[in-house]
Amino acid sequence: MKKVNSALACIYRTLGWFPVVIINAIVVWSYFAYVIILCFDIVSNELEKGLYLVFFHLFFVMFMYSYWKSILSSPGFVPSQFFFSKEDLERYENSENPQDVVNEIAKGLPVVTWAVANSARYCGNCYVVKPDRSHHCTMCGRCILKMDHHCPWVNNCVGWGNYKYFILFLFYAILFTMYVALSSLKYFIQFWTAHSSKKSNSDLHILFLFFVSAMFSVSLWSLFGFHLFLLSKNRTTLESFRAPLFHYGADKDGFNIGTMNNIRQVFGNTTWKWFFPIFTTLGNGCTYLTSRSRNSENTGLLLSNNDDDEDSSHLSPHTPRDIQQSVYTSSTFVNGDININLKDVGSDDEEEIFHKNKLRSLYRETNENLG
Ligand SMILES: [Zn+2]
Ligand SMILES: [Zn+2]
Repeated sequence: MKKVNSALACIYRTLGWFPVVIINAIVVWSYFAYVIILCFDIVSNELEKGLYLVFFHLFFVMFMYSYWKSILSSPGFVPSQFFFSKEDLERYENSENPQDVVNEIAKGLPVVTWAVANSARYCGNCYVVKPDRSHHCTMCGRCILKMDHHCPWVNNCVGWGNYKYFILFLFYAILFTMYVALSSLKYFIQFWTAHSSKKSNSDLHILFLFFVSAMFSVSLWSLFGFHLFLLSKNRTTLESFRAPLFHYGADKDGFNIGTMNNIRQVFGNTTWKWFFPIFTTLGNGCTYLTSRSRNSENTGLLLSNNDDDEDSSHLSPHTPRDIQQSVYTSSTFVNGDININLKDVGSDDEEEIFHKNKLRSLYRETNENLG
């Protein structure tokens, strides 16, 4: 059975490249139609030709670079400390109530979201306690950090590690297709107004070039707009359909820390780097500030706060027992890692001990990352 499953997975993975091949074939053809047919065969003005070629190549390179970064970059996989140990696995498989075993394991890990009330999220395929915002992807066959969705057009999951590249891919794909459509419009009109009833091959290339680029640019706008909205709210596509569950209940804005901070979490703190497909995403992909922790006294250290952010109106002003206030008593992003200052909770209360364990684990983990 395992052999059949792995053979099927292999077939799926191979077939998964089909949409990527289609996209690349269209792009290669558009390069031929624009550069060879339009610029070299049809456009006669040297200045116009030069400008067309410069801008075309600029958008083409940025689009393809972002696209291939989305395809080839890891979306982020669950680190080893979230996996069940050999002993955990034995206890899990022999237990009458495996969820209790999972809850026990999760106590030592920095997770703040639940599957259902008081039940830690875990994956029975990967044998991991799921880090917050991670999900199992059946196409990839593993759990993905901050999973957004599995995208057939990039034959890859879109997650914490490549979300920036995916947004840039959409952005540059729109710029590229809009540019091609607008700059070929004049020659497209000439095609229809030409007196000759005989259409050459070049005319047909220009006709299709305009139609294909205009069609893609229109359809990409809705997807790009949707992801800009999600980015501004710090939501993944999956979270937009099903709100994450915190100890105080489901909250679709649970990770919303203000529009600018949300953008910086994905794109980094240096504005000019936002526009290049280089890795600048903050954090470690496993632990996230929440909207409630943002209200705690020291979270202003995390990122430069955006006090005029209108989204903060829904935030609760008092959450004294909020798990996030325990975990993130003071934090700041340092070179893509989170630096946590530990605050001793100092209580024997069971819940406090539970939170304290999470805090210690997170502290240990993040300091290891900082080396
Ligand atoms: Zn999994
Ligand atoms: Zn996937």
